[in-house]
Amino acid sequence: MTQVEALYHLQEIDLNLLQRQKRLSEIAAALSNNQIILDTQRQVTVAENKLTPQQRKVRQLEQEIQSNTQKVQLTDEQLYSGRVRNPKELQDMQNEIKSLKKRNTELEDVLLETMMAVEEAEIELADAQKLLQTVQTSWEQDHAQLLSEQDTIKAEITGLQQKRQQALPAVTTENLKIYNTLRPRKNNQPIALLINQSCSVCRVEQDMTIIGDARKGQKLTHCSSCGRILLYRGG
Ligand SMILES: [Zn+2]
Repeated sequence: MTQVEALYHLQEIDLNLLQRQKRLSEIAAALSNNQIILDTQRQVTVAENKLTPQQRKVRQLEQEIQSNTQKVQLTDEQLYSGRVRNPKELQDMQNEIKSLKKRNTELEDVLLETMMAVEEAEIELADAQKLLQTVQTSWEQDHAQLLSEQDTIKAEITGLQQKRQQALPAVTTENLKIYNTLRPRKNNQPIALLINQSCSVCRVEQDMTIIGDARKGQKLTHCSSCGRILLYRGG
C-alpha cells in the first residue's frame, strides 16, 4: 500500500466517523426535545381551567334553586296552616312565594346555559386528553427508535475507531501531520481521486507531470487547483 492509498483509507474511515457523530448529535437533540408534549399538556390545563369554574357554577345554582324551593314550601305550609291571620303578614308571605318562584325561573335559565357550557368544556377537555395520549404514545415510540439507533451508531463508532487505530501505522508521522493540517481546510477531504486526468473534487484537469507523479505514487502529489493530495485511479 502506498502512502496516498493509506491516507485515502484513513480518510474514508474518518468521513464515516464524522457522519455517525453528526447523526448522534441529531439524536441527542431530538431526545432532549419534548416541546410537543409540553404544548399538548398546556392545552389540557387550559381546558380544565375552563371546565372547573362552570362546574362550580352549576353546583351553586342547583343549591340556590333547592334552597328557594324549600323556602317556598315552608312559606306555603305556613300560609295554609291557619296559624297566621294578620292580612298584611299573609300578603307578605304570598309576595315572598311569588318572588322566590320568579327568582327560580331566572336561575333555571342560567343553569341550563351553564350546563351547556359544561358540556362544551367537557368535550374540549376530552379532545385535549385524547390528543395528549396520541402525542405521548408517538413520542415514546420515536424515543425507543432513536434510543435503539443511538446504540447501533455508538457500536459502529467503536468499530470505526478500532479500524482507525489499525489503519494509522500504515501512514508515516510526517504524512499524518500533512493530513491533519489539510483536513480542516479541505472540508475533511484532503485526499481526492485522480480520475480521467482530473481531480475528483474540484474537477480540474491536471498536467502530465502531476499525472505521472500521481501514477507512480512514490510521493504525495497535490492537485494543481485545490491542493488536495491525489490518488491515481486510472483513466
Ligand atoms: Zn482538486
